[in-house]
Amino acid sequence: MSISPSKIVCVGRNYVKHAAELGNAVPAEPLIFLKPPSALIRPGDAILLPPGVGRVDFEGEIGVVVGRRARHVPESDAWDHVGALVALNDVTARDLQKKDGQWTRAKGFDTFCPVGEPRSLSEVDRAGLAVTTRVNGQIRQHAPASDMVFAIPFLLAHISRIMTLEPGDLIATGTPDGVGPLVAGDEVEISVEGVGAVRNTVREARP
Ligand code: MG
Repeated sequence: MSISPSKIVCVGRNYVKHAAELGNAVPAEPLIFLKPPSALIRPGDAILLPPGVGRVDFEGEIGVVVGRRARHVPESDAWDHVGALVALNDVTARDLQKKDGQWTRAKGFDTFCPVGEPRSLSEVDRAGLAVTTRVNGQIRQHAPASDMVFAIPFLLAHISRIMTLEPGDLIATGTPDGVGPLVAGDEVEISVEGVGAVRNTVREARP
């Protein structure tokens, strides 16, 4: 399946323990931001560390691929607008995120959004959803989707009241605790149980 979203809508601080590990409170309503589609890469592509940006982190997430246009969708109908789920890595330049306040630069570098092969929602066991991150084969993050502060239907309904979601748009649903830095030579894999995985190596970008 090709992936060509008009936008990538991401949710921040959607797991209690992850918010806490970075010293943040859980927001009262979903905290959202955008990544540009130009950040997308696929399995096997390299994550490029931009020169001079400091710490760059992995964030393993469950990605939602919109299947049907969604505008002002009630939470009870939200799953009808989901086409597929996908493993996603919300790669983040952590020092720039703190420095800028606005997250566009920290989240928006080319290669900062690896995604795997989407799996059709009809083939997914929604009850058993969980995300796992491995770096060089070692488990660094693991959490069930049930740990989300705001669940997928709530997120889709909320976002659809702000912006129309088009088929193919991606929603990154937030990362659990355990985030950490990547260095050149690392291999990072995000897997979503019953959905699939995205594995990428990390290297320095050439200036
Ligand atoms: Mg994230």
